Amino acid sequence: MIEVSEMEEVVCVKGGHSLQVYLFLVDGMLVDTGAQTMLQELIPFYQSSLIDSVVMTHSHEDHVGTAAWLQQNKNVPLYIHPTSIEFCSKPITYQLYRQNLWGIRDPFFARPIADTIHSKRFVWKVMETPGHADDHVVLLNEETGQLFSGDLFLTPKPKIIMSHESIPAIMNSIRTVLTHDFQSMFCCHAGYVADGKRLLQMKLDYLENMCGEILHLHKQGYTITEIKNRMFPNDLPIISVSEGQFDSVHIVRSVVTEMDS
Ligand SMILES: [Zn+2]
Repeated sequence: MIEVSEMEEVVCVKGGHSLQVYLFLVDGMLVDTGAQTMLQELIPFYQSSLIDSVVMTHSHEDHVGTAAWLQQNKNVPLYIHPTSIEFCSKPITYQLYRQNLWGIRDPFFARPIADTIHSKRFVWKVMETPGHADDHVVLLNEETGQLFSGDLFLTPKPKIIMSHESIPAIMNSIRTVLTHDFQSMFCCHAGYVADGKRLLQMKLDYLENMCGEILHLHKQGYTITEIKNRMFPNDLPIISVSEGQFDSVHIVRSVVTEMDS
């Protein structure tokens, strides 16, 4: 079942089964749309809510899963990074574990998000923040100090990433965001984080230390697999479930290949 709560005038909707997923409604603007597997539970919420626009932080299926329903039933504009518009307009299939977790999203037609977006009362700064996904953006309200961080944060101490992700790019994106003033953060998997800026800084510190250790070991001659086994010895269940699409080795590889000069 979905759970609806409100923090700082932001409606926070939590759903998902084994992995929790959030979407947010602020000032008539829906931020992300959850997974397709959440649709039946979300329909009553959507039907009873005033929604003027929908912004998606990136095109992963747990963020765009109910966009097609919103387009067909709420007649509202949908916005996403311009490079994903074509991808989102086509049918897609995923590996079985992802289908089981999140379902398969239907195609939808989004408009390109600009570098600012307006809700009824507020202006939101749209910041490109690649790393977790090439098309990732976050939304910042400089008036209220609120950040919608998509999947930029997730956890302060990541031990696993997907094969397409880049730790150096994530670090650069976090640095960009941290140059701005904000307090609270709304994360699509951690939910409302009151001291968001501090936790995002904590994640950057953790990643910087981790990179230093990876590069140090690599200079000593350790291979990517050896570094992974030393620094991330626990094989989490998601590694085998995802057939290696999620793996700590992708952390090490992205650091070694992109940062070692
Ligand atoms: Zn994602």
